[in-house]
Amino acid sequence: MNVVIDPKAGFCGGVKRAIKMVEKALKEGDEIFVRGELIHNPREMERLCSLGLEICGEIDGVSCKSMFIRTHGETPNIYRQANSAGIEIIDATCKNVRRSQKIIAQAVKEKRKIYIFGKEYHPEVIGLLGYCGGNGKVLQSIEEVIPEFIENVPSLLIPQTTADPDKFEALRLKMVDIVSILQVYNAICPFVSQRESELQEFAKSIDALIFIGGRHSSNTTVLFAVCKEVNPNSFFVEKPEELPLEELSQFEAIGISGSASTPMWQLEETAATILEKID
Ligand code: SF4
Repeated sequence: MNVVIDPKAGFCGGVKRAIKMVEKALKEGDEIFVRGELIHNPREMERLCSLGLEICGEIDGVSCKSMFIRTHGETPNIYRQANSAGIEIIDATCKNVRRSQKIIAQAVKEKRKIYIFGKEYHPEVIGLLGYCGGNGKVLQSIEEVIPEFIENVPSLLIPQTTADPDKFEALRLKMVDIVSILQVYNAICPFVSQRESELQEFAKSIDALIFIGGRHSSNTTVLFAVCKEVNPNSFFVEKPEELPLEELSQFEAIGISGSASTPMWQLEETAATILEKID
């Protein structure tokens, strides 16, 4: 049996930087909290919490001296609250998300309405809405692009960095039919847009695929579906105990991959488990 780790798998640049920043600060003894999960991978979160990271919903009442801002970014209001509470900020907002925040802030100055294509509950979208000066609207699907919902006023259309490129393009085409003055900024992260085709290539090159990630990560769910489409022998697992060992023993070439929030140590651990239990 041959077990191969996808050479393109592992953290994206933004997550890699965030993990390094938080590990360094924790090593230096900082007391740090983060609003929500730093990444959507429960086992990596467990590891970071064991190093001292705390997860809190709200700033009020926290005892930590520093707040870690995730790659998703935060609203300007959260920065203000932290400053007035005397909390130091360790800011790991991804540069791609930071760029979207700046584009939105500029569009607000130009008095444009802001349309964000994304999931309204996603922390990045919640953060971006905070920059819209009360003039932002989230579009979750192309069905929402109808004259009853969309105003024909100068507007900016911007997607969440992890949005599906084809869906965004279809939505853009519908928007230009309604909004005469429409600025479009394609904020989709190149890592995300390239990942699907790279992953499909990898999934096709092996007999079976183990896809590792957090069950509640939307990026993980989308990428796993992409693998399953081209290789029906694709299995999703969150931890090695979930490996379908009996089914895997029928295959010769097994590939291991994961999403932008799956650390390399989980891919290596899975490869080692398969080799140990099946070979
Ligand atoms: S997926 Fe892209 S936008 Fe999101 S954190 Fe990673 S590099 Fe940044």
